[in-house]
Amino acid sequence: MIREPLIFEISGKGKRAFSLPELDVPSKKDLLRNLPVRDEIEGFPQVSEVEIVRHFTRLSQTNHCIDVGFYPLGSCTMKYNPKINEKIASLLEFNSSHPAAPLDLVQGNLEVLKTTEELLAELTGMDAFSLQPSAGAQGELVGMMLIRAYLGERGNPRKIVLIPDSAHGTNPSSAHLCGYRVQEIRSNKKGTIDLKSLAQNMTEEVAALMITNPNTLGVFEADIKKMAEIVHSKGGFVYMDGANMNALIGVCRPGDMDVDVIHLNLHKTFSTPHGGGGPGSGPVGAKRMLKPYLPLPIIERKEGKYFLNFDQPKSIGKVHSFYGNFLVIVKALAYILSLGYEGLKEVAEIAVLNSNYVRKSLEREYYLKYKTPTLHECVFSDKFQRENGVGNIDIAKRLIDFGLHPPTMSFPLIVRGALMTEPTETESKRDLDLFIDAMKQISKEAKENPEVVRSAPHTSYVRRLDETTAARDPVLRWKEKKKIK
Ligand SMILES: *Cc1c(COP(=O)(O)O)cnc(C)c1O
Repeated sequence: MIREPLIFEISGKGKRAFSLPELDVPSKKDLLRNLPVRDEIEGFPQVSEVEIVRHFTRLSQTNHCIDVGFYPLGSCTMKYNPKINEKIASLLEFNSSHPAAPLDLVQGNLEVLKTTEELLAELTGMDAFSLQPSAGAQGELVGMMLIRAYLGERGNPRKIVLIPDSAHGTNPSSAHLCGYRVQEIRSNKKGTIDLKSLAQNMTEEVAALMITNPNTLGVFEADIKKMAEIVHSKGGFVYMDGANMNALIGVCRPGDMDVDVIHLNLHKTFSTPHGGGGPGSGPVGAKRMLKPYLPLPIIERKEGKYFLNFDQPKSIGKVHSFYGNFLVIVKALAYILSLGYEGLKEVAEIAVLNSNYVRKSLEREYYLKYKTPTLHECVFSDKFQRENGVGNIDIAKRLIDFGLHPPTMSFPLIVRGALMTEPTETESKRDLDLFIDAMKQISKEAKENPEVVRSAPHTSYVRRLDETTAARDPVLRWKEKKKIK
């Protein structure tokens, strides 16, 4: 593959992507005389239209994306996002309305928000939702803040949050950021939270249990109601990390499992493209007890008109400008309404089926530390391949040569050399088979020709990078660096 030059390197003086006819009226350029307007910006690239199009099209092809191929990045739910969502979100009435517009002019937008809140509450069995948090991690922090506000108001915010050792890294970070000390609970042999261990750790100093269900191994925490009973009996709260709702949506509801507060990742379960650092949305749902503490403003309806209620003295306050990442919410609503209840249920069913097909097809080639049945994802490891000096990083890099995105690596932390695989519901059997065949071939290569795997990728835009240097000292100005040398 040829290295794509920087647009500055393609630039040539006088090249333009447009042409206008000769001016046939008197020039009024001197009207701008006293304004800070420049004729030319020094060093600004000058290119023709076709050069711009080719440059950015070629750049767009150097990265993998869901529109190009399979993307089984576990825990991230990289499903294909139907284009109808984009179409709806790009309607002028949505994307051009100003967030500070008078409420009379944006009643439709407020209805979109309120309807989404109500549908999410219905789908999760919670009493109320706030759509403000920008991502899952911020949703976790907001959830913790609700609990802290509730307990604090009653005299003691408590000190500890219990989190299983399989949790996503954002869980302990959010609890810590909210002023809590994190106490880890060890998973048992099944990969789930041990009830005995929970009971031992649950004291009146514990504010909450943060649980992910299904957990990051893809295992459903079947004892969740018993756990909630243990936590509630000591006056604590159950927080559920809902990032894995793709496994449950339309089938069962966390609210019915006695969860008190939950966040969802609209950019995962509810289908907004993510992974490029674009806007996300991590709504938080709460049971009645925690509702008065939700972020401001609350959208309400009176006499057929929506308005924003800022008069909630117990609220934790604002956590986002205006009302969250509006267009992500529009996409989520489009997704929910286009699939309907039955369609959403099918999402979960097929996601689980696809994952189990992959798991069953590869269980001989790749070690599964936990034999417990799994839902929407499964966590293989590199244990068999390590015998030949091939690690999960090598397997991941080799997959790039097959035009596939690697699974999530080295997470959850309780599986050494983890390859966490989440195919999602949007993949056909053909696409799953392409992945399975590639994984089988890599396992074969690891035995017969391990060097091919260890030196991968061979066909990508750049070859194997030094991970640390690539992250800490990226070469952004190729030419200059070369000159220095
Ligand atoms: C993705 C994820 C998060 C964090 O969500 P962001 O939107 O990336 O902040 C938290 N927990 C789990 C289990 C996740 O998969």
